[in-house]
Amino acid sequence: MQIKLVNKLVFSFLLVMIFAIILGFHISNYAMKKNFEDYLIDKNDNMIEVITEALLTNYDTDEGVLYFRDIKLLAKSQGLYIKVEDVDGVIISETSKDYLRIENTYDYIEENYDLVKNDHKIGVVTIGYYGFDNCDTLDLEMKDTIREVLVQTAVVTLFIGIIICIFLARHISTPLIRFTQIADEIRKGNLKVCSDIKSSTYEINQLSNAINYLVKTLENEDMLRKRLTSDIAHEIRTPLTTIQNTLEAFLYGVWKPSEERIRSCYEEVRRLSKLVDKLKDIEKLEEANMFLNISKFNFTEEMKQIYLLFKKQYENKNMDLVLHCDEEIMITSDKDKLKQVIINLLNNAYNYTNEGKSVEVFVNDLEDSFRIAIEDRGIGISSEDLPFIFERFYRADEARHRKTGGTGIGLTITKALVNNLGGKINVKSQLGKGSLFTVIIPKSNE
Ligand code: ADP
Repeated sequence: MQIKLVNKLVFSFLLVMIFAIILGFHISNYAMKKNFEDYLIDKNDNMIEVITEALLTNYDTDEGVLYFRDIKLLAKSQGLYIKVEDVDGVIISETSKDYLRIENTYDYIEENYDLVKNDHKIGVVTIGYYGFDNCDTLDLEMKDTIREVLVQTAVVTLFIGIIICIFLARHISTPLIRFTQIADEIRKGNLKVCSDIKSSTYEINQLSNAINYLVKTLENEDMLRKRLTSDIAHEIRTPLTTIQNTLEAFLYGVWKPSEERIRSCYEEVRRLSKLVDKLKDIEKLEEANMFLNISKFNFTEEMKQIYLLFKKQYENKNMDLVLHCDEEIMITSDKDKLKQVIINLLNNAYNYTNEGKSVEVFVNDLEDSFRIAIEDRGIGISSEDLPFIFERFYRADEARHRKTGGTGIGLTITKALVNNLGGKINVKSQLGKGSLFTVIIPKSNE
C-alpha cells in the first residue's frame, strides 16, 4: 500500500505530538499531585500545631479544656476527630467522629501528641483524619481547577499542533510534487521545462539545481545527437550520390567504365565504410566509464612502443614525431585505457597538423603522478570552440572535419578515460599555431 507523503508526514508529526502531550500531561499531573500533597502535609502539620497549642493554653486539670466548643468548630470545618485525655487516660473532651470526611479514598490516620506544660506531661491529644484529603473545599477546588487547566492546555496544544503539522507537511511535500511534475514533463520529452522552485531548505535548492542541470545536459545531448544524425546523413548522402550517378551513367551507356571512374567509386565506398567504423566509437564511450583493469608496469617502455608505432605513420605524412621521456616510470594503473588516451591524442595531433610539421611528446615523472604533454604545430582550435571540444559529438569546424572523417567523440572518450584513471586533462590552443594537450595521471590507481 502506498501512502501520500503529506499524509505520512501529518500522521508522523501527530503521533509524535500526541505522545509528547500525553507524556507532558502525566508529568505535570504527577508534579501537581506531589506539590499538592506536600502542601497538604504542611497545612496538616500547621493545623496540628495550632490545635495542640490551643489545647495546651486552654487545658485545665480540674475544668477540662476551656472553650472546647471553638475547637469543635475547627474540627468540624477541617474534618478532624479530636480527643483529649488526662495522664491517666481518662477522656476529658472529645469531638464527634461524624466530622470526618469518610467518603474519601485515603486511609484513616489517628495520631497521639503529648500535652507538655513546664516539662510535665499533663495529658494526651489524639487527632484523627482521613489521609491528605482532610483538605477543605477550596483546596479541592484548586486541585480540580489545575487538572482542568492541564486538560484544556493539552486540547489547545493538540489543535494548534494539528494546524502546524498540516502546514509543515504541505511545506515539505509541495516542492516534491512539483519535482514529480517536472520529471514527468522530462519523461514526455519536454526539455524546455525548468525547475522554478526556490526554497529556504538547502536540500530542496540542491535538488532544484540538479534537475535544471539534468535538463540542460539532456537538452545538450539531444541537440548533439540530432546534429550527429544530420551529419551522418550528410556524410552518407555525398558518396552515395556520387556512386549512384556513376553507376547510372555506366548503366545507360553515358560513360564507359574506365579504371579511373571505377576507382573513384571504390574510394567513395571506402569512405562510407570508414564512416561506419567511426560510428562504433560511440560504444567506446560507455566502455571508458567501466571498471579498471589494474596492473603494475613500466610506463616508459609502453610509451616508447606507442611512439615507434606512430613514428612510422607520421613519417608517411612527412611529419616528425619527437619523444622526450623520463626513464623508468613505474605505475599501477589500467594499461589499455592509458594507451587509448595517448593513441587518441596522437591521432588528433596527426589529423589536425599539416604535412611537414612536427609533433613533440613530453613525459615527466612527477612524484605521485606523471604528466604526458602532446604539442603540435597544427591548425589549432579557436577560442570559441575550445571550451566545447571535450563534449560529445563536438567538432570545431564541420566542413574541415568531413575530410578527416572525425565524429567528435574521440576527446570525449579521452576525457572519460582520464577521469576514470583519476587524472586531469587540459588543453591550450591557438588557431593556426597549434595545440598543447596535457594529461596528469596518478601513478597508482589502487
Ligand atoms: P574527432 O573525431 O572529430 O577528431 P575529437 O573529439 O577527437 O573528435 O575532437 C573534437 C574536435 O576538437 C575535433 O573535431 C577538432 O576540431 C578539435 N581537435 C582535437 N584535437 C585537435 C588538435 N590537436 N588540433 C586541432 N584541433 C583539434
